[in-house]
Amino acid sequence: MAKHVYFFGGKKAEGDSGMKNLLGGKGANLAEMVNLGIPVPPGFTITTEVCTVFYEKNMQFPEGLKDRVLADLKKVEEIMGMRFGDGKNPLLLSIRSGARASMPGMMDTVLNLGLNGTTVKALSDLTGNEWFAWDCYRRFVAMYGDVVLGLKPESKEEEDPFEKIIDEKKRARGIKLDIDFMVEDLKDLVARFKQAIKQKLDVDFPEDPVEQLWGAIGAVFQSWMNARAIAYRKLNNIPASWGTAVNVQSMVFGNIGQDSGTGVAFTRNPSTGENAFYGEYLLNAQGEDVVAGTRTPLPINKKQKSDPSLPCLEEEMPDVYKQLLEIRATLERHFRDMQDVEFTIQRKKLWMLQTRTGKRTAFAEFRIAVDMVKEGLIDKEEALMRVSPDGLNQILRPIFDPKEVEGALKEGNLVAKGLNAGPGAATGKVVYNAEDAEAWAGRGEKVILVRIETSPEDIRGMNAAQGILTSRGGMTSHAALVARQMGKVCVAGCGDLDISYKTKVIRIKGKVIHEGDYISINGSTGEVFVGEVKTIPSEVLRVLVDKTLKPEESEVYQDFAALMTWADGARRLGVRTNADQPDQAQVAVSFGAQGIGLCRTEHMFFEGERIDAMREMIVAEDPIGRKKALAKLLPMQKGDFAGLFKVMNGLPVTIRTLDPPLHEFLPHGEKDIRDLAAKMAIPYERLAATVASLQEANPMLGLRGCRLGILYPEITEMQARALFEAACDVKKSGIEVAPEIMIPLVGDVAELKLQKEVVDSVAKEVFASRNMTIDYKVGTMIEIPRAALTADKIATMAEFFSFGTNDLTQTTFGMSRDDAGKILRFYVERDVLDYDPFQRVDEAGVGKLMQMGVELGRKTRSNLKIGICGEHGGEPNSVKFCHRIGLDYVSCSPYRVTVARLAAAQAAIEEKRAKK
Ligand code: PEP
Ligand code: MG
Repeated sequence: MAKHVYFFGGKKAEGDSGMKNLLGGKGANLAEMVNLGIPVPPGFTITTEVCTVFYEKNMQFPEGLKDRVLADLKKVEEIMGMRFGDGKNPLLLSIRSGARASMPGMMDTVLNLGLNGTTVKALSDLTGNEWFAWDCYRRFVAMYGDVVLGLKPESKEEEDPFEKIIDEKKRARGIKLDIDFMVEDLKDLVARFKQAIKQKLDVDFPEDPVEQLWGAIGAVFQSWMNARAIAYRKLNNIPASWGTAVNVQSMVFGNIGQDSGTGVAFTRNPSTGENAFYGEYLLNAQGEDVVAGTRTPLPINKKQKSDPSLPCLEEEMPDVYKQLLEIRATLERHFRDMQDVEFTIQRKKLWMLQTRTGKRTAFAEFRIAVDMVKEGLIDKEEALMRVSPDGLNQILRPIFDPKEVEGALKEGNLVAKGLNAGPGAATGKVVYNAEDAEAWAGRGEKVILVRIETSPEDIRGMNAAQGILTSRGGMTSHAALVARQMGKVCVAGCGDLDISYKTKVIRIKGKVIHEGDYISINGSTGEVFVGEVKTIPSEVLRVLVDKTLKPEESEVYQDFAALMTWADGARRLGVRTNADQPDQAQVAVSFGAQGIGLCRTEHMFFEGERIDAMREMIVAEDPIGRKKALAKLLPMQKGDFAGLFKVMNGLPVTIRTLDPPLHEFLPHGEKDIRDLAAKMAIPYERLAATVASLQEANPMLGLRGCRLGILYPEITEMQARALFEAACDVKKSGIEVAPEIMIPLVGDVAELKLQKEVVDSVAKEVFASRNMTIDYKVGTMIEIPRAALTADKIATMAEFFSFGTNDLTQTTFGMSRDDAGKILRFYVERDVLDYDPFQRVDEAGVGKLMQMGVELGRKTRSNLKIGICGEHGGEPNSVKFCHRIGLDYVSCSPYRVTVARLAAAQAAIEEKRAKK
């Protein structure tokens, strides 16, 4: 029989941190801490496999589990010198979930388990603290009543039934804080809680500790399938089949008195990544008090104090703090990563309750990675693997324009300061609940979600918002943790805000903010402004693109640059950019682009009078008319190309011949047609008839791509001429050029052959007249399945391939890229598809065609250069796929170049590691 229960405690544990799949993250790391000699309350982990069996067997525990659990419970009793359910020295237990991947707050926990009429008295006698014993008991009854017995609010508007009883009691007693309850009040609360449970659910609260234990274990397993856990898994791609483990552990108490407490800490600052111990604690409190946001916790050390009058653990309990610092060092050395720990101090004795890899902002993620390389804890490859490409994107996120901030300050619009829980700047309209956030964002509004505190039910709304602002809770509150993970701007614990959900207003410093009013929050400083504060580019952008900041003035930039240099050293895949204009190309070069992988020439024709010349060309009735219009376009196009060549300074520039569905250029409506007819000096009716004759039923599959250049070779001829003349001019001015001409939408080699002939003959002519030559390549897009299937033939003509995965996805799925949004959203929500294939390469289908294209193409031409220029070229998973199938480069929009460089490095490292 498989081993279902793993013991930890004393000096030895049966598990270790390598067993996360089986023991969950929490269980595996508790075991590891025990093995490291760190003080951990003893306990045992029931494996994730049991969770799977539990669901398979219709919520029944596997055979033999009960005996194993009771046997390990005995060991816990021995180490603690206490007995579960004992009338003199009762052991109490905590029952917690723990999945493979961290799912903060999504599943259930039961604390203080084992209390009943007998043990509460024993606990009181034992500690000499009756108040404490009954405080534990009332917490236990409420938690068990909620989690195991299921007494919960019945609607969104309803208050938690236990909180309601507490509030009534406080009102009746005229007190505000839990701490002000008398023992008699706590006893009365316990009685009322039990009464409410009996009344609403018709069950008696269980007295038998063993019955309580099995109830709690079952409830924790069942919480794997609660709605918020399911929503969280979906958002984070965690398979339901993993299941959760259950950790049963001896309770230690932070709420015995002022010599006890509880806290959470990060071994480095999770917002900025600074190498400084960072945490929060509360004296006389239990774990949930710190993270629930019901009391705002205190800073752990002097360094972290924003207000010098606040106490801190370093001063209140210097010995415990020193021990924590030692554990911090041990954990970082051992795990070689920033840890997020939970601890409890029971009568000045420190117990560690959890350690796990700490969640962090993108800023912290890469700062910690870079710092740890410098500190010798990890190597460069490890650092590269630790920075998520999407997270790197956040480094490029906007901040508030300092001038706007100055103005806002002058006008007194800075109304509050909270905790800087998730960096970046966000501005938007205020909404007061997650549903509104989703609905408003769905209408295209930018919103800031304002809550007293958030709960796991709010995650979808948080995801939809630009930023999150809460009035309660600390850096480790739900709002803060989840926002950081999502990469959302967040200001938490902003206690000055008086928020009313009912009237949907915030009152602050005499100002009233209504739903729909603008508010701006700075998640890097914690500042809250009323009104809209405009944002400006991030420091990295200001160094690289705007050049308004010097590299040496920005630490963020320096870390960024270091990481990017390492990435370039590790990757094999080249990274180019899709750019149509010199300024775009310039940005991309600043981000490290190694060439232009796609210049969509049609984009050059939408500006000013160009569109008229273009339309004239399209509606021309014969080659002469067409040539006349093309002659107008030639100098403009030549200027465009010269601009690109200059910026790219000898790097390859792939220019694609015209490829739009024609209707994009046609004059629409009578007015446009009349205007154009007047300009062309032809009768309206004649032009209207031509326009009508050019209408297509299905323009995406109609006269576009190379079909245009084949029907009207003079278009390709003009473009080739503009390109070669520009190349000659630029080369003559002393700048190297490397043009690559790309023919779109080829499905048969004959199409490419026809177009290549036009290009080659123009080249010959231009070179002869200029008395010079330039090396150039002619290649094709592979964006029609037939091109991939016949790539060996196509490669006889093509010197390079570039996968146009936008069209290749469209044509492989037979789903219009313009109409797919609605369908795919539904598909992804309902799990018809795992992801949107227009964002990430569909490896099973489109990817298979790509692979075939690579193999067949290189069979004909072994040195065939192959890239990708569809949108997928900047999506990290797709970039890695491109590496694996042997492409030479990816090409993506300028702002995704750095992300692609990192993803390419990760792909190379993953490959290397797999070979080991
Ligand atoms: C493509 O189809 O992937 C491509 C890059 O071309 P376009 O998006 O211009 O059709
Ligand atoms: Mg295309």
